[in-house]
Amino acid sequence: MQISQKSKQHIDSCRFCWMCHHICPIGNATGLERNTARARALGLSLVARGAVPYSKDMIDNVYECALCGGCVHECVTGWDPVMFTKEARLAAALEGKLPPYIQKMLIHLQETGNIYGEEPKADIPELPDSDTLFFLGQDARVKGDCKAAILLLQKAGVPFTILRDEPNSGYAMDFMVGAAAETKDMMKKCADVLKPFQRVICYDPADAKVMKREYKEWGIDLVPEVITFTGFLAELIHSGKLQVKKQNLTFTPQDSPLLARDLEEVQPMRDILSACGTVKEMLLYGENTMMAGNLIMNEYMPDVMKKVAANRWVNAKNAGAENVVTQSPAEYILLNAVKPENINLLSLEEAVLACL
Ligand code: SF4
Ligand code: SF4
Repeated sequence: MQISQKSKQHIDSCRFCWMCHHICPIGNATGLERNTARARALGLSLVARGAVPYSKDMIDNVYECALCGGCVHECVTGWDPVMFTKEARLAAALEGKLPPYIQKMLIHLQETGNIYGEEPKADIPELPDSDTLFFLGQDARVKGDCKAAILLLQKAGVPFTILRDEPNSGYAMDFMVGAAAETKDMMKKCADVLKPFQRVICYDPADAKVMKREYKEWGIDLVPEVITFTGFLAELIHSGKLQVKKQNLTFTPQDSPLLARDLEEVQPMRDILSACGTVKEMLLYGENTMMAGNLIMNEYMPDVMKKVAANRWVNAKNAGAENVVTQSPAEYILLNAVKPENINLLSLEEAVLACL
């Protein structure tokens, strides 16, 4: 297995440690030791030493990680299972050992621009040209619903446009095969399409994460300023361009790990929800958040994703939540699939629209 010395060092440091096992949404859902960062590191350390082959089972295990960064955040000694897991995925790709369920999504991505192999169903209105682009992302265009977000921007009087032929940001490629040449090519192509714009508002935290982090890390020149949809809404409310009326409503935020940990964006959602009502936190919030689901993994581990979302509902219920608010189209879809009857689920834009 081709893996860097840096990753080997992190693998060797994690393989006998158990300190972050309680924070893993996948391990908590499956109850299996193999889903802890430690167990993955132990297996990879044997592969890296040539003691065992990089087997199908080991590669499956590498794809059982959500790359949510819970373990990285919890680690007091600074080791990084996300880094070595992504490198192990790249190694599987370079060795021609990608599992069939990953190969299938890569083919879909090539053929249709999204991992689902489906035509986008999002109803996009006719919009005038603008130097501000609202970037919806593959999950919202194919699986989700972005009508409320579009309506909210229109109500705020924001000039913006949406590309009918939106490129893929490269998040899914990065998730599946890490820093492969093909991932970088996809990101470069996306950056080229975005060149004419001054500002890109990313609806999906996943796209914001790669544009703001991986593009920069890999030297991909992105001309427009990139802002998250949450950050943009917070600015609109703060500047008075979007006027909300505080309601007698209590909101419980479900922080997207991509925003809260990768982009360190925690406060804007609270600023928005505090302007609309009262914020009531649940266990594990802000940068300590627990992921509520991942749509890419839902393609090959749907039962585990159901359990991950159900576990988050348990946290919400225990906190006495009335309205859980999510910023991520993927988490919205997965939470909604197992929603208990007595708690509401709202997207951030739905929460704001209720308070105009
Ligand atoms: S990330 Fe840190 S806490 Fe988790 S297994 Fe590795 S060394 Fe231990
Ligand atoms: S990145 Fe997330 S899913 Fe993967 S081992 Fe760490 S906590 Fe678990």
